[in-house]
Amino acid sequence: MKVIVVGSSHGGYEAVRGILQEAPETEIQWYEKGDFISFLSCGMQLYLEGVVKNVNDVRYATPDTARAQGVDVFVRQEITAVAPLQHEVTVHDLNDDTSRTEHYDQLVLAVGAEPAKLAVPGADLANVYAMRGRDWAIRLKAKTVDPDTANVVVIGAGYIGVEAAEVFAKAGKHVTLIDILPRALQLYLDEEFTSRLTETLVAHGITPAMGQSVEEFTGKDGQVAGVLTDQAEFPAELVILSAGIKPATHWLKGAVELDAKGLIKVNDYQQTSAADVYAVGDATLVPYAPVGGKQRIALATVARRQGRTAAKNILGQRLKMPSVSGSSALSVFDYHFASTGVKEGTAAKLGIAIKSIYVEDAARPAFVPDAAGNAPVYFKLTYAADSQRILGAQIMSKVDVTANINVISLAIQGKMTLSDLAYADFFFQPGFDRPWHIINVAAQQALLGKT
Ligand code: FAD
Repeated sequence: MKVIVVGSSHGGYEAVRGILQEAPETEIQWYEKGDFISFLSCGMQLYLEGVVKNVNDVRYATPDTARAQGVDVFVRQEITAVAPLQHEVTVHDLNDDTSRTEHYDQLVLAVGAEPAKLAVPGADLANVYAMRGRDWAIRLKAKTVDPDTANVVVIGAGYIGVEAAEVFAKAGKHVTLIDILPRALQLYLDEEFTSRLTETLVAHGITPAMGQSVEEFTGKDGQVAGVLTDQAEFPAELVILSAGIKPATHWLKGAVELDAKGLIKVNDYQQTSAADVYAVGDATLVPYAPVGGKQRIALATVARRQGRTAAKNILGQRLKMPSVSGSSALSVFDYHFASTGVKEGTAAKLGIAIKSIYVEDAARPAFVPDAAGNAPVYFKLTYAADSQRILGAQIMSKVDVTANINVISLAIQGKMTLSDLAYADFFFQPGFDRPWHIINVAAQQALLGKT
């Protein structure tokens, strides 16, 4: 069997790995249109802040490690067309500008997404950057030490934008963070959390400009010089766009079914509308555990699980993609937060009636000093108003308690209720925790009717 995998990031890497694990004899051709395979944008902040020194280390695999496992790796070779009936793809070799066709028995499209551009005047000025992939990582790194870059405007205050803002604030730049939504990280956290994070951003010299719509990039000599919103103008020698992504699928029209946003339609087995063609990653929707249906959740964790699901099905096993809750975590200066599932801020869009309980507690018993890891913990548990089924949670503290969100993710997947969590068995040791875990406390208070 010959499998062609298109795209070498999380989804493509996992599809290749999954096939190799169980059927190493499979003929695999792995295509990447960029000049580097399997860069992890997830590791970009660590590189930009100098924690990881070499940009080339921020990857899963090298062509050599893949080739050593028998994979044919093709770099700077773009798949430009799929002919599903013929089971053929067109390969454009960017190295010598030639094209050829390749036959496949099974095809995996792990083409991912690209940063969305803003359709405003000045969008093509120099120094309007994005934050995704190795090439942008290298260019952004240069800007962190560029003395001519004093003012940085980041557009989009999701987790990528907040990472960018933190990188450049730590590099000594004056950073403005713009979003059309009223709060930074609004899609990840409710107000109890974002108000504290916004204070932290301000304390570190970042200017939040929330609830503002970008109208124009102003320029001088072809270079960006400022960002004009509907409310203010901000100087900028560098603009970083992190206001969403669009699937890299324009070339697939007519080959596989796409939805109105250009996402590739897949079933629970990652199969597209075309026989023997699978799709995974940011260019697809994913089953959503809290309330069913499918959602767009652009996370590496999702792409990896989809890649494994595709690999298993290609090898003849009938495995459904497990539903996910969009669990994610981030550090913002001194704070660490994580969230999963439904928030108050996202429930209305899902059309569901929810209730939430918000709890503040200490990470450890009162006698444990702050220097030994004690600090306030902020936690919010969201559940269905009628059935009390657990639908989501958010946690934040200056100590790292983020892994607790994985417990809630499991509770969502297992369709647990408040009663299941109220007295659930969690360990206690003063160096780590409290006798009643904050998840117990929240569920117990919710059962008492508190909010
Ligand atoms: P992509 O990562 O988009 O990669 C697609 C690849 O396919 C690219 O290399 C592209 O060049 C190649 N390609 C596309 N079309 C073709 C073609 N026609 N021919 C050949 N090659 C092609 N997620 C987390 O879970 N945790 C994190 O901490 C996290 N941090 C992030 C930080 C940043 C700054 C960014 C940008 C993203 C982060 N994510 C994180 C999200 C995560 O990176 C994405 O969800 C993930 O990369 C999606 O993987 P993918 O395989 O779908 O596609």
